[in-house]
Amino acid sequence: MNPKSNIVHLPVYQPGKPIEEVKKEFGLEEVIKLASNENPFGCSPHIKQAIISEIENTSLYPDGAATDLTNRLSEHLGVEPNQIIFGAGSDEVILMLARAYLVAGDETIMASHTFPQYKHNAEIEGAVCVEVPLKDGTHDLDAMLAKVNERTKIVWICNPNNPTGTIVSHAQVEQFLKKIPSQVLVVLDEAYAEYIDTEEYPASLELLKQYKNLVVLRTFSKIYGLASLRIGYGIGHPDVIHTINQVREPFNTTRYAQKAAGVALQDQSFISYCREENAKGIAYLTGEFKRLGLPFFPAYGNFIMVDLQKPAPLVFNALLSKGIIVRGGHSLGFPTSIRVTVGSDKQNEKFIHTLEQVLEEIVVETN
Ligand SMILES: *Cc1c(COP(=O)(O)O)cnc(C)c1O
Repeated sequence: MNPKSNIVHLPVYQPGKPIEEVKKEFGLEEVIKLASNENPFGCSPHIKQAIISEIENTSLYPDGAATDLTNRLSEHLGVEPNQIIFGAGSDEVILMLARAYLVAGDETIMASHTFPQYKHNAEIEGAVCVEVPLKDGTHDLDAMLAKVNERTKIVWICNPNNPTGTIVSHAQVEQFLKKIPSQVLVVLDEAYAEYIDTEEYPASLELLKQYKNLVVLRTFSKIYGLASLRIGYGIGHPDVIHTINQVREPFNTTRYAQKAAGVALQDQSFISYCREENAKGIAYLTGEFKRLGLPFFPAYGNFIMVDLQKPAPLVFNALLSKGIIVRGGHSLGFPTSIRVTVGSDKQNEKFIHTLEQVLEEIVVETN
């Protein structure tokens, strides 16, 4: 049996360590996971009932087109229903985009250190990934534009960028769209959009009205707190959405996910609460990083990339042994940094307290 030659080098996705495993390994009672940008406040309290209400329909296939949810979301966002497509997480929308638009030999452009699923899915289709270095942790749109040629099919812009947390502005994205040839698809991944209320963040739904080649990705996994249900979506021109629909599996999102997402949309007070708490968490954490003299990238999502100026695996393992799971920067292209998800007040304080201990210990060990 010979697998496709362009996938033999692909690693199997390595998830962060589960909380239960870390508890057992280190004999800990309390473990905090700040590694996957999950919502520390869970989800809206109405979700439980929404899921229970679907239990009796478990033997029935879901509505593949997610009609009810599409209508609710279309109203919420102020776009037409035929501009929306759902996936099993926005991860699946990324997969469908690659499937629908990329063949072997096509080129696709992305930042050097960004969300790994763009490259992963492009390589499965045999496309050539052109990776453009970040500038100060931020997408360098001019350099990305300079890489566009007649083979370029998709440009991926992760905004805010995972793992650095930085953003490109409305003006920058608009200039980019003005200059890029209209047959190149531009994917703006806005998984953390709802956390952001700064003026300069792109009004991407406005840009959609002018640029048929723009697709915006969002998700219910992050601020909405529905990561386990796997539901995210793309918004774009009806023709592009139709194309993506042509490669969509018939029943790609579940009844529970559709129902829960619809209910989650209605509870915007939960979303506001999470946005405010997250902003307070960023202010606290960045204040502490300054006190400790640790450089960090400006954070716009619910995570911060901070440079600890020590080998990331050492810090990662030391934090792990004390019950705090983060993402080590060594696997993300930042060998002396970690990416930490903004938690609740209590979690953030515990993290800082533990980090201080760990940084002191590592100095002692290397002396
Ligand atoms: C978390 C994340 C996603 C996808 O999450 P899903 O759970 O698949 O919706 C997409 N893009 C970025 C940048 C993310 O951080």
